[in-house]
Amino acid sequence: MVKIDPDRLLADLKRLRSFGATGPGVVRLALSRVDLASREWLAARMTEAGLDARIDGVGTVFGRSRNSGPALVIGSHTDTQPTGGWLDGAMGVIYGLEIARALAEHDGTKHLAVDVASWIDEEGTFSGLLGSRSFVGDAVDEAIRGATNRQGERLEDVLQAAGLAGRPRARFEPGRQVAYLEPHIEQGGRLEAAGKSIGIVTTIVGLRELRLRFTGQRNHAGTTPMAIRRDAGAALVAFIAMMNDAFAPLADADTVWTVGRIDLDPGSLSIVPGAADMYLQFRDANAARLQAMENRLAELVRDFDARNGVHVELTTIDVPMEPVSMSPALAEHLAQAADAIAPRQWIRMPSGAAHDAQVIARCMPACMMFVPSIGGVSHDFIEDTAEEHIVLGCQVAATAAAAILREQRTR
Ligand SMILES: [Zn+2]
Repeated sequence: MVKIDPDRLLADLKRLRSFGATGPGVVRLALSRVDLASREWLAARMTEAGLDARIDGVGTVFGRSRNSGPALVIGSHTDTQPTGGWLDGAMGVIYGLEIARALAEHDGTKHLAVDVASWIDEEGTFSGLLGSRSFVGDAVDEAIRGATNRQGERLEDVLQAAGLAGRPRARFEPGRQVAYLEPHIEQGGRLEAAGKSIGIVTTIVGLRELRLRFTGQRNHAGTTPMAIRRDAGAALVAFIAMMNDAFAPLADADTVWTVGRIDLDPGSLSIVPGAADMYLQFRDANAARLQAMENRLAELVRDFDARNGVHVELTTIDVPMEPVSMSPALAEHLAQAADAIAPRQWIRMPSGAAHDAQVIARCMPACMMFVPSIGGVSHDFIEDTAEEHIVLGCQVAATAAAAILREQRTR
């Protein structure tokens, strides 16, 4: 069996953490100076590992194997959220690097081809999942032209200044690249709660994002009797309670919905709100359930509209994202590796978070594997995973990678 080097793995992860380290966390926004420096470092590490490495025209770091035959792409992202953890994305990329090295060091596996990728801007500093979308052949130029970060910098200018604009872009190689593996931290508390070490992903959930606008009448909060108010804020709060009751019977244990933002107009203590907006997101692994929830929401809006003189309007704020199934055959390789290395310590589970794997799955079979997040926390400086779990996950991923490639070569 191929053996990874735990010390080398952890040392590289910690070196990557030093780019943008902020307390225990990391601030390494896509294409920032520190992110570009980390990309140079990563490309150099890939080169040392024997890969043909380059930073492509959108900023993705791609290390291509020099071995012939079918290739497995292992990747994730190394950009972070504004308050990022040190492992979100980074772990999967360094797993890929370590697995490429470990396979190259063993006689039985050194002929196998592993490409390693750090897809640019998974977290959406400029345009979410940009690197993986470019790789699968989406027409990203329009998105690049329109994209700016929170500081108003234009993505086009940033790519130009970094010397990346005009460089060739890493693209899917049909016939050569046969499978994609994305190891990642769980970013939730399910593994920890179940006392398990490895999660094998079945599906990446789909989601809907909608806005509900409640329109009533602004009025004086001291002189307007309760009975004649058209209070948009009170209507919104009552609606949320109804919605929770209506969604509960449709949901299963993995269904989630969130009112992440509420705006009251004008938002003053002495004014009955004349308008109120709520932003709703719901996620599920089952496309039919997502549709049923959307239909139920529309019914509720119809029933609720004009109650107490408040008008309700429902609008979609983003294109619906459908659930994406991971390859059962690849998941089976992960399951066999987990059985061999961590028997009874693994489970199958959906991913509630979006990942590059959902994009890559459009061009080749894809799979994902999780390790536990301590306290279930991510997108925060305190995000962490036990070293023992980081090492175990890499060993499972390496074993599965070798098995996937061996099977491909016997076809
Ligand atoms: Zn991530």
